[in-house]
Formats: sequence, C-alpha cells, structure tokens
Amino acid sequence: MGRQEEFVLRTIEERDIRFVRLWFTDVLGFLKSVAVAPAELEAAFNEGIGFDGSAIEGFARVYESDMLAKPDPTTFQILPWRAESPGVARMFCDILMPDGSPSFADPRYVLKRTLSKAADLGFSFYTHPEVEFYLFEKELAADGRPVPVDRAGYFDNTPHSIGHDFRRAAITMLESMGISVEFSHHEGAPGQQEIDLRYADALTTADNLMTFRLVMKQVALEQEVQASFMPKPFTEHAGSGMHTHLSLFEGDRNAFHEAGAPYQLSKVGRSFIAGLLRHASEITAVTNQWVNSYKRLSGENEAPAFICWGHNNRSALVRVPMYKPNKGGSTRIEIRSPDTACNPYLTFAVLLAAGLKGIEQGYELPEGAEDDVWSLTDAERRALGINPLPSNLAEAIRVMEGSELVAETLGEHVFDFFLRNKRQEWVEYRREVTPFELNRYLPVL
Ligand code: GLN
Ligand code: MG
Ligand code: MG
Ligand code: MG
Repeated sequence: MGRQEEFVLRTIEERDIRFVRLWFTDVLGFLKSVAVAPAELEAAFNEGIGFDGSAIEGFARVYESDMLAKPDPTTFQILPWRAESPGVARMFCDILMPDGSPSFADPRYVLKRTLSKAADLGFSFYTHPEVEFYLFEKELAADGRPVPVDRAGYFDNTPHSIGHDFRRAAITMLESMGISVEFSHHEGAPGQQEIDLRYADALTTADNLMTFRLVMKQVALEQEVQASFMPKPFTEHAGSGMHTHLSLFEGDRNAFHEAGAPYQLSKVGRSFIAGLLRHASEITAVTNQWVNSYKRLSGENEAPAFICWGHNNRSALVRVPMYKPNKGGSTRIEIRSPDTACNPYLTFAVLLAAGLKGIEQGYELPEGAEDDVWSLTDAERRALGINPLPSNLAEAIRVMEGSELVAETLGEHVFDFFLRNKRQEWVEYRREVTPFELNRYLPVL
C-alpha cells in the first residue's frame, strides 16, 4: 500500500468513518455506489471489491460478469451531509476485470486512455464546466409540468430567494468536499441556476461533476425542492447547458496561448478548434445523449445549432472567450453544445480526441462567424460553409455510427453498447404519440 492509501486508512480511524462508499459511473453517466466497512478497505485497495458487472448499464454480458471496483485513494472525501459521527466517506473507483486489467466498459478508463494519448503528445488537458440546472417545487403542476421555484432571470438578485439560499448551501457543501466554485448566478429562465467549477485536470473535473450532480440533489432534498439536469424541461424556456472551457498545457505553458496572435490563439489552439468543428457531428450523440437534448439544440435561447466558431458570438458552437491580460495564459476554448445530463468522462474524452485529431493532422481553422448564425437563412449559412449540428438523436446516432474517431476513443465495447442503447431510446420515442400531436390534430382531423 502506498502513502495515499495509508492516509485514507488513518483518516477513517481518526474521523470515525463507519461506511466507505465506493463510487463509479455507468456508461450513461449514472452514479453507482457500494458501501463497504472500513475493515474491507485494505483488500479493496489491493485487489478491488467484486461486483456483478452485468447488472450495471453497459458494463458486461452475463457470462463474463465478474468485475472489481478498485478505489482511487486520491479521491477520498468525507460526505458533508453525513458529517455527524459515525461518518460516511467516498472514493471514486477504477473498474477492473478479474485478472486485474482495466475494464473497457469503465467510462473513467475511457477518459484516462484519451488523457494518456494527449500525454504522449506532451499535453495535459484541463476543463472548466459551467453547469446549468433547474430548481423545481417538489410537486408537479396539475398539467404534469414541473413548477420552477422562482420567476427570476439572468443575474437577478432577489433577497431571500430560494435560489440564493440554495446556491449558498450547495457551494458550501461542494467546497467542503474540495470542489472549488468560480462563479454562480441565477440563469435566464425561471428557477434556473448556474454554478461554474474552477478549472482542473479533466479527470478531476469529471469526478467533480459526478459529485456535483449528487450534491445538488442532496441540497435540494434538504431544502424541499427538486434539482433537475434535464436538458430542456420547457418548450418556452432555455435549456440547461454545460458550456465547457478547454485548455491544453505543455508543462506549465498554456499551449493555446500565443502572445500577439489573433485572440492570443496559438496554432495548436486553432487546430484544436478545427478538430472540434470537423468532428462536431460525430461526437454530438455523446455530448448530447438524450432525445430531450436535441430540444435544447433547436437554435434558440443561446444554445448552439450550427457548426462554427466565433469570438464574441454566443450563437457559435465554439467560442474563444475574451483574453484577460492580467491572467497570463488564460487563453481557452469554450464549447457550448454539451448538456448537464451527459456522461462527463465520455464527453471530455471525445472533445479531447477531436481536438487532438485537429492538432495531429494540422487541420486549418475556417473563417470565424461574427454574424448571428441563427438569423441567417439556410442558403446564407451554406454559402459560409456552416453546417447544422444533428437535429435529433437519430441523426446524431447515424453520424456517430460512421465515426472512426468516436469508435477509437470509446473503444469497441462502449461504442457498441452506447449505439445499441441509443437506438432503442429512439425507437421507443418514435412510437410515442405526443401532446403536440393531440393538440394539433385532434381538433381538425
Ligand atoms: N442556457 C443556455 C444553453 O442552453 C446558455 C445560456 C448562457 O449561459 N448564456 O446553452
Ligand atoms: Mg456562464
Ligand atoms: Mg449560462
Ligand atoms: Mg458560457
């Protein structure tokens, strides 16, 4: 056992921790947890805790179902909502096969594999997600729709609002778990909130996002409201996105930064964006994995619908945010398509893979779009070489099916499972008769 493991065992003694939750994530991004007694931890660190992988979405077939969860001691945290003694702690796990090799089904491994590909090229990958979500009353309205907890809008500061209290409690809880928050505010729609995590290496941010979603649900429970990461709960209000700022570092140097270049953007940065754009359609099924995700990407409410980049242009898929000279080396790229209901490990993996492809192949960055691309006609966009993102899950799956980049990045197992699962979701959705149809057709047909 290493020093980290010993530190965990000592802390467990000192803090009277009786349960340790071992966390991991299924292919669709749902958090899984198994609690072990502290006495089991030494074995868990050495060889992992066995579980039935065939019961986890996307993990294994029944005839090869034995898997091991091996905790990563660097992710040890005491759960603040179980702070009273005896306490509860958690660690994220890597998933292994019985022979000790990494499981190809583990999303954390998919990301690690892509990060090590970046490392081979000399890069480390950092992300900073802006997480949007809604707060609803516990009870649905009579018509079955969720009820936002307030009627406030962007940056509104209403004293004693539920959103305020919620954000303060939620951020305090995140910070007590070592997750730093950079900004938080009320978002544009009623009940909608945004909390932005400080940038960190992508594996840490992905782990943090898994914790984040649970913490929001937990605080909501305590405050008797409901937190939802559904990408588009209302037709008439903005959806919840997860704009993500990306940067590559070579050692201490920001590889996207070049003093004096347009937008202070280096050649590496330009090729990375070109990679994101060229492969945007292929990776959309991963960054936006639900039928509902595409209601958000319909070309309104500051959600992207077209493949282009810009500087000060919030209709673009990729944006190069304002450079802050006093924050030397803060050059970064914002991708605006992902939503908060994605699997963050797989999402970061495909974003990184697309960008690296651009760097490796030396893709040229097309002209930036400084127009509002939503307001152009199809013909105008075509003339500018601006193509649409997939407009629904079926289209996104179709493009992903042909993608070598995504197949390689996810690995055959996750790629096949994901496509199978998503095709099934589409089949079920397609045969559903919706309120739209009843409202529109019943009165006239
Ligand atoms: N909610 C918008 C989206 O879906 C973003 C709004 C914003 O942050 N400017 O992406
Ligand atoms: Mg923001
Ligand atoms: Mg926002
Ligand atoms: Mg943003």
